[in-house]
Amino acid sequence: MDEALRPRGVTTQVGAALITYFLPCRPGAIYVNVTDHCLNDCRFCIRRDGPMFFGQDLALRDAYPDADTIVRALTAVTGWGTEVREVVFCGMGEPLLRYACVLAVCKAIRAMPQLGVKIRIDTSGMHWAGLKHLDLLDYIDVLSVSLNAENAKKYDELCQPQIPNAFGVLMNFLNAVKCYEEDLRARGLHYPEVRLSVVDTSEESFIPASGREAYGKGCFPVPDLAACKRIASDFGWSLVVKRLFRDSRDERWIARSIEALCLRGPRPEACAGCSYRH
Ligand code: SF4
Repeated sequence: MDEALRPRGVTTQVGAALITYFLPCRPGAIYVNVTDHCLNDCRFCIRRDGPMFFGQDLALRDAYPDADTIVRALTAVTGWGTEVREVVFCGMGEPLLRYACVLAVCKAIRAMPQLGVKIRIDTSGMHWAGLKHLDLLDYIDVLSVSLNAENAKKYDELCQPQIPNAFGVLMNFLNAVKCYEEDLRARGLHYPEVRLSVVDTSEESFIPASGREAYGKGCFPVPDLAACKRIASDFGWSLVVKRLFRDSRDERWIARSIEALCLRGPRPEACAGCSYRH
């Protein structure tokens, strides 16, 4: 086996890039790091404080893995054992900016029908400004879209998008997904579960300092959760409220403890105190 792809817990390093990683409180889920490029600059984004995340360095340094490399990395690290329940595309960037790559990986996983693994994609939806494809939905189980705000003004304030009319792009994306979902449903075909998500920014001390520096204490914008829930339910979807990360940079998430982790292993003691919950 290629030494760089030798299984070592739940992370796979190929060259300078960490292609797969994990969240301690998501046993059975393997995360895929396809890009660190993003069209937003969210004030609450953890990458403002650097690429380390639960002891894992998610900087890709322009070494973006291709689909074959990702599939080989996933295979090497998981062996596709039954303990692997979910593959999640989510990193310190927008995975659908690499739409063709993500689609190819999803197709490769689905071409192994013996695998019962679920596929989830977390997206901001901003890729929709330039790429209007939805065929990926045929291959995944869950699409999680960051709503993040109840209107354009607050979205711009919280997410600082690089593209104009970003909230409009997001709404257009959601409407297109809804139409696609209804079409698949009408034809009796598989369609994924769609979830919207919002980050509860009310605990502002856990927002990276660079994200809150423009605001005085107690003035940081907070999404209207009830209004966000109404938007989600108008689409017929659920809303997931995410808490801010507070200890993903804690020293206990050192490489040694990560390497000791395994999809097959028990949840480590360090996980008990982790604040990461949806
Ligand atoms: S969309 Fe996600 S990766 Fe991009 S800045 Fe916002 S939180 Fe960070």
